[in-house]
Amino acid sequence: MKINIFPSGEKLSKEQIVQYLTCDDDKEIAKLFEHAKNVRNSVCGNKIYSYGFVYFTTYCRNNCNFCYFRASNKIERYRKSKEEVLEISKALINDGVNLIDLTMGEDPEYHKEKFQSVLEIIDVIKGEYDTPVMISPGVIPNDIIDDFAAIKTDWYALYQETHNRELFSNMRIGQEYDERMDAKLYARDKGMLIEEGLLAGIGESPEDIADSLLVMGDIKASQMRVMSFIPQEGSPMENVKTPTRREELTIIALMRIMYPHVLIPASLDVDGISGLKDRINAGANLVTSIIPPKSGFMGVAHSTMDVDEGGRTIVEVKAILNDMGLELATKDEYKEYEKKLKEHQRGI
Ligand code: SF4
Repeated sequence: MKINIFPSGEKLSKEQIVQYLTCDDDKEIAKLFEHAKNVRNSVCGNKIYSYGFVYFTTYCRNNCNFCYFRASNKIERYRKSKEEVLEISKALINDGVNLIDLTMGEDPEYHKEKFQSVLEIIDVIKGEYDTPVMISPGVIPNDIIDDFAAIKTDWYALYQETHNRELFSNMRIGQEYDERMDAKLYARDKGMLIEEGLLAGIGESPEDIADSLLVMGDIKASQMRVMSFIPQEGSPMENVKTPTRREELTIIALMRIMYPHVLIPASLDVDGISGLKDRINAGANLVTSIIPPKSGFMGVAHSTMDVDEGGRTIVEVKAILNDMGLELATKDEYKEYEKKLKEHQRGI
């Protein structure tokens, strides 16, 4: 018997999505946000989930045009030890985050050691700390995905950023669209939840965004993220302007009404803590990129914004959400939600 645990989403056509994305009527867009918020509340009540962000190596073999950490950029980099990663993870868990997001560049050192130290870290976080884990390691071979799946790593996050193949090759220089997509689908078929993501403001058309939204549903992504492009010093796109946030917020709202069940991040990485409220009001149900101050760990799009000032902490997030009549979910509430997502992904 099919148990419908989440409400069905609205089946929007490509044309309808494009109409929303190009709509310049503020009242219509405000109505869309209100609708998305109501859909979110019907699924999550007044709960919002939270992830701790642990970007443990900023070395990368790739040269994505939009990224500060691309291999050719002459920047200071770090590679944190297992002890440092566990220490910050524990601190984040004690603060109350629901999951640890272990993020890395495609660091050749980890490929050489077949991710053994990452597997050991996950073992501790899942076992001793009893906390779900997301890994964002870039493209990795299937046998490594098998290893992550075998120790019940909850999530594999891997973003195409665009589903326009030409734009993809202009952004992710020298990388294969299909290789990236196939790794994600392989992880999903091994039982891991997958997160797909796109960047707004990199030269995409409304039609490209519409295609992305439809693909994200087709591949059964359980978490969908959109972030506005932020120009990065020293990168080939450093002079490209960041877009207004209308596009990102409209995409969040459309994701919510099309896919009511999914986790949609309000990332603190784009506009810091000041951007939280708008994203939640557009239908997001998850706060990501929470980083303890003065930890020596960085964000991605805004590598340092609000971090050492303490603006990306659970305390700050909680205060804003409470003001909005919302509450941070407990780890057990998150686990319950994740269980439903897994059932949904398996089609139960
Ligand atoms: S986006 Fe990721 S894969 Fe691309 S250069 Fe940056 S860290 Fe490397």
